[in-house]
Amino acid sequence: MEEVKPRIAIHKFTSCDGCQLAFLHLGEDLLTLAEKVDIVHFVEMGPINPTAKVDVAYIEGSISTPEEAKRIREIRANSRYLVTIGACATAGGIQALRNFADTKSWMQAIYATPETISTLDTATAISTHVKVDYEIYGCPVNSQQVLASLLSLLQKVTPTARRDKVCLECKRLGYVCVMVTKGEPCMGPVTHTGCGALCPSLGRGCYACYGPAENINTDSLTQWLSSLGLSDAEIARRFLFIQNSAPGFKEAGLKLQKKKAS
Ligand code: SF4
Ligand code: SF4
Repeated sequence: MEEVKPRIAIHKFTSCDGCQLAFLHLGEDLLTLAEKVDIVHFVEMGPINPTAKVDVAYIEGSISTPEEAKRIREIRANSRYLVTIGACATAGGIQALRNFADTKSWMQAIYATPETISTLDTATAISTHVKVDYEIYGCPVNSQQVLASLLSLLQKVTPTARRDKVCLECKRLGYVCVMVTKGEPCMGPVTHTGCGALCPSLGRGCYACYGPAENINTDSLTQWLSSLGLSDAEIARRFLFIQNSAPGFKEAGLKLQKKKAS
């Protein structure tokens, strides 16, 4: 009798496609994976079946259009587990900067025919619209974290995420702190680990693409960055960047903006 393989789908919403590449970057592991599961929808790789019922749906991108708001509900109904991958899907991504602006006036300033564009006023995380079973942070996500999540879910085990900080990753890997030794502004003290402290390993500060870690102290980091000569506006921009709508970062950034305005 032919083995029935688990079915998975990878769906794209408003995004740059970088997180879907996490699957393609698996290399030989992807070939092994393809023997164990049926990849029924993954436009970037070939298969197209957007309405297929699946065991696990991976979602890249934020909800930015009325069509996307409708499509994510259909995917949720067709999926046993729904996993979001990347900053766009988990926190709205860089496009969520428009949540702090007037979308219509931006469109009029940028596009020749803004009336032809169908968009929402906001770009929001997938969890704002449907139940999400597991979130994988990063911009882009780490391929091995994506693979580990799938292997756990296929065994009906809840994937485990490390929520500690990039700072701790630096200590574990023996990287010298760029903030203490070079005076480089670094968001590592408040940023979720998962990248292997990539930026500090190259001698530069982290800009928080993995989003907020657990138990963050944004006031303390603000004081540190201030002591390095950054203005409130510059510090606010660091919190309100790729992960501008993530809890913790959004409040810290808006607090600094408000302080500047008062
Ligand atoms: S999280 Fe980053 S890499 Fe992933 S789709 Fe969004 S912008 Fe691209
Ligand atoms: S060090 Fe920071 S900015 Fe660099 S990849 Fe890691 S989380 Fe992203």
